[in-house]
Amino acid sequence: MTQPVYQRVALIGLGLIASSMFWAMKRGGLAAEVTGFARSAETRDTARRIGLCDRVCDSAAEAAEGADLVVLCVPVGAMGKVMQEIGPVLKPGATVSDVGSVKRHVIDAVSPHIPEGVHFVPAHPLAGTEHSGPEAGFAELYDNRWCLLVPTPDADPQAVADLRALWEGMGANVEEMDADHHDLVLAVTSHAPHLIAYTMVGVADDLRRVTDSEVIKYSAAGFRDFTRIAASDPTMWRDVFLTNKDATLEILGRFTEELFALQRAIRTGDGDQLFDYFTRTRAIRRGIIEAGQDTAAPNFGRGNGKA
Ligand code: NAP
Repeated sequence: MTQPVYQRVALIGLGLIASSMFWAMKRGGLAAEVTGFARSAETRDTARRIGLCDRVCDSAAEAAEGADLVVLCVPVGAMGKVMQEIGPVLKPGATVSDVGSVKRHVIDAVSPHIPEGVHFVPAHPLAGTEHSGPEAGFAELYDNRWCLLVPTPDADPQAVADLRALWEGMGANVEEMDADHHDLVLAVTSHAPHLIAYTMVGVADDLRRVTDSEVIKYSAAGFRDFTRIAASDPTMWRDVFLTNKDATLEILGRFTEELFALQRAIRTGDGDQLFDYFTRTRAIRRGIIEAGQDTAAPNFGRGNGKA
């Protein structure tokens, strides 16, 4: 058995990300005790029933008290309020982290409530599925996925090193990144694509009224993949767009320009432009597979419904 990285870890919010962390920490023997708290009694009851966390508490403060690491696993828009609640009970020397999909907003919302002597090391695991809630988690979610740490310039090196060890122990590859850069990269790789998927499924839904159930009946791989992405948690994604506004709008502006260019190529019958564009994008797909971040299996290897 390896030495635990932390004696006590507290998970605030018990959804997909927190529950996967719990099972991954147990698998790796990374924490001697894990406490947990979720806002609703229903989620806390589910957690107790499935053995999620060594101790499920009835308040965030109770879960966080005495913890060496507290991880905020709630939607991005709720981070500040939760931090305000637990700030007064944190023990000196403890580390607070989070898993939010947007970093600048979380840093601005959480930092003012971090007490003197407590470290704050924001993080974002680039792993998820379209499922949410305490029963959606599994120990392998972070295996060979990236986890980006976004330490502030004055971060304590030991606190950063410990958090890195935890994420590596949970199977992730860890890198450090600046918050604004993180938000721009994620706008390209995750946030704008989700908005496009939501839009495409919305368009198909409008169309369905015209074509009866043909959109569902004949839904081909491209559209099915959009529906999987567009099934992601509405609260989480609402908060992502509200809090990563500038970067997402910047990318969507560029996207719209490209879309118009392709639309024009179709209208004018410019096959060369379409062919060159699709050749360029195909190479990106190859790069992702070569980097081990997806499988070349048919249907994206997604028979199991996982991202
Ligand atoms: P989830 O499965 O929907 O779980 C969210 C948890 O937060 C639940 O325990 C929920 O409590 C609690 N919660 C919701 N609103 C709250 C509020 N206003 N105040 C306090 N608690 C609240 O979500 P998740 O997928 O684990 O996502 C959690 C965080 O991870 C988010 O910040 C998200 O951006 C980030 N993230 C998600 C993914 C992904 O693909 N899902 C990937 C990387 C990072 P109840 O159950 O009691 O409602």
